[in-house]
Amino acid sequence: MEKYWNIFTSSFSDYGHYLWREMLHPGWGNYFYWLLGLSLFFWLLEIVVPWRKGQPVFRQDFWLDGFYMFFNFFLFSLVGFNALSNIGVEAFNDFLGLFGIHNLVAFEIQSWPVWAQLLTLFVLRDFIQWNVHRLLHHSDFLWRFHKVHHSVQQMGFAAHLRFHWGETVVYRTLEYIPLAMIGFGIQDFFLVHIFATAIGHFNHSNLHIPLGPLRYLFNNPQMHIWHHAKHLPHRYGANYGISLSVWDYLFGTAYMPKDGRDIELGFEEVEAYPKSFLEQQVFPFREREVVSLREVSSFEVKLSVPAEEVDQLR
Ligand SMILES: [Zn+2]
Ligand SMILES: [Zn+2]
Repeated sequence: MEKYWNIFTSSFSDYGHYLWREMLHPGWGNYFYWLLGLSLFFWLLEIVVPWRKGQPVFRQDFWLDGFYMFFNFFLFSLVGFNALSNIGVEAFNDFLGLFGIHNLVAFEIQSWPVWAQLLTLFVLRDFIQWNVHRLLHHSDFLWRFHKVHHSVQQMGFAAHLRFHWGETVVYRTLEYIPLAMIGFGIQDFFLVHIFATAIGHFNHSNLHIPLGPLRYLFNNPQMHIWHHAKHLPHRYGANYGISLSVWDYLFGTAYMPKDGRDIELGFEEVEAYPKSFLEQQVFPFREREVVSLREVSSFEVKLSVPAEEVDQLR
């Protein structure tokens, strides 16, 4: 137990030091300045060549999403996920040790050229994430958490990182085993992570940059906006692609019926969804109560007999 406690406390201080070092030392290998740089880049592009010309430079929820960006990219790791995941990995390895398994690596790809390793990591991780994203839409429980991301009503690059921290836990947990099996640790993600962040910002941005035939490979704003459409023919949505759009074309979940520039975004009753960061953090945990209360009251409404019919009964 003491081992786990030590991992827990040192994870906090290690990550705190790491973040502080990042902020003080700009450089090419630095997450903090990459996130800042990419965000500024896409924001400037949105200002210079916007897709929806009437959309304000500081669009609806700009600052909320800015905070989400910092929270999900850094603070959540600082506050808890780093500690929890370090313990999770240790406990998982201890658990495997009980069965005499000391190495999860099933395919050794460390001997491959670096570019081939990174490409494999990128494609494999993106395919896993496409599946996790589908799961977030198909499971009623997980959808309550994913709704935070879909509560965006005016789209811009920063909407990319508006999501509930519960999603980070689901994605990282489900990614861990398959990636560990080919020998990747959590530390190997830098380049892939930066590239995926850039595409994620692009998908959500207010830009129209045609990709030509590459649109069948890479996700883009014209496709991803339909993922956020308020009204879709399929109950569980479409266009689940994260960085790559190719999975949606391969598995028949691509949907772009027309130009989606001005479509309504969100979900049924999005107007009534909590607007602040703290409320959005808490809401998925208590949404069931709210929904069942609503179901009860609509049930009562159905039970009550209209006044004219009561008159006829008399
Ligand atoms: Zn989604
Ligand atoms: Zn999105």
